Amino acid sequence: MDKIIQGTAANGTIRVLSAITTGVVREAVRRHDPSPTVSAAFGRVLTGTLLLGGTFKDYDRLTVRIDSSGPVGGIVAETNGRGTVRGYVKNPDVEIPANVNGKFNVGGIVGDGTFYVIRESGFDIGLHKEPYVGSVPLVSGEIGEDFAYYLAKSEQLPSAVLLGVLLRSNEPFVAASGGVLVQMLPGANEQIITMIEDTIRNAPHVTTAINAGAEPEDLLKLALGEVDFQVLDEREVTFQCNCSIERAKTLIASLGAAEVEAMINEDKGAVMTCGFCNESYELAEAELDEILQEANS
Ligand code: ZN
Repeated sequence: MDKIIQGTAANGTIRVLSAITTGVVREAVRRHDPSPTVSAAFGRVLTGTLLLGGTFKDYDRLTVRIDSSGPVGGIVAETNGRGTVRGYVKNPDVEIPANVNGKFNVGGIVGDGTFYVIRESGFDIGLHKEPYVGSVPLVSGEIGEDFAYYLAKSEQLPSAVLLGVLLRSNEPFVAASGGVLVQMLPGANEQIITMIEDTIRNAPHVTTAINAGAEPEDLLKLALGEVDFQVLDEREVTFQCNCSIERAKTLIASLGAAEVEAMINEDKGAVMTCGFCNESYELAEAELDEILQEANS
């Protein structure tokens, strides 16, 4: 089961989160069928978005959007604070050669661009507050560094973000996925910060540990070394969309009678595909007739 934990270290002066997202990324890859390098980039963004969600209290919907000038074009992930995440990539099929270390060249496929964070709140209680939008330029396109740079710039809290996706050549292609976020809060001891930075620099890849069966607590130990931590919250995480046949019908109805008539007369039906999860909803002529009658009544 995929999960995310959050807690504190060093007497509450350091916030720590970690997540195992192997199932989340497997489901995302199954639905969108991206190339290996795009899978690695997409999986890191989905994991980072779940971790970032844990650093904010007040939102109903948190969206991370990367507008990239690289081959992938763009990546979007959205979480709702209840442990579900969904997302898509603009160009899932593009692929580029591995980098000099033989690793997926995520930075190369993402390239330059802008990293946006959009926080919306108030939906649940019927309020429509202005969304909060923050943005920073991408620093490397490697995703983990981009999340860390965003947190340091926009929240003024120095952070380390480790994200990883391990792929294999047979199904399910995603062997392991997960990440760790360590955030220094005001008052964090400089010596402890240096210690953690050293530990992180020398830590093995998170995906190696996850592939060997590590739990989220084990990932925190990898990142924190000797520094004690306390887990405050744990929750399950899943790739899940909120689209449905009802929503597809509502959307079609909103297009207006003329458009629905055209779907009936010209296409003898309609197919709606959700961008976030790639689910297709087929509506037969009879169902479109019903929508039309309701619109005309
Ligand atoms: Zn959907």
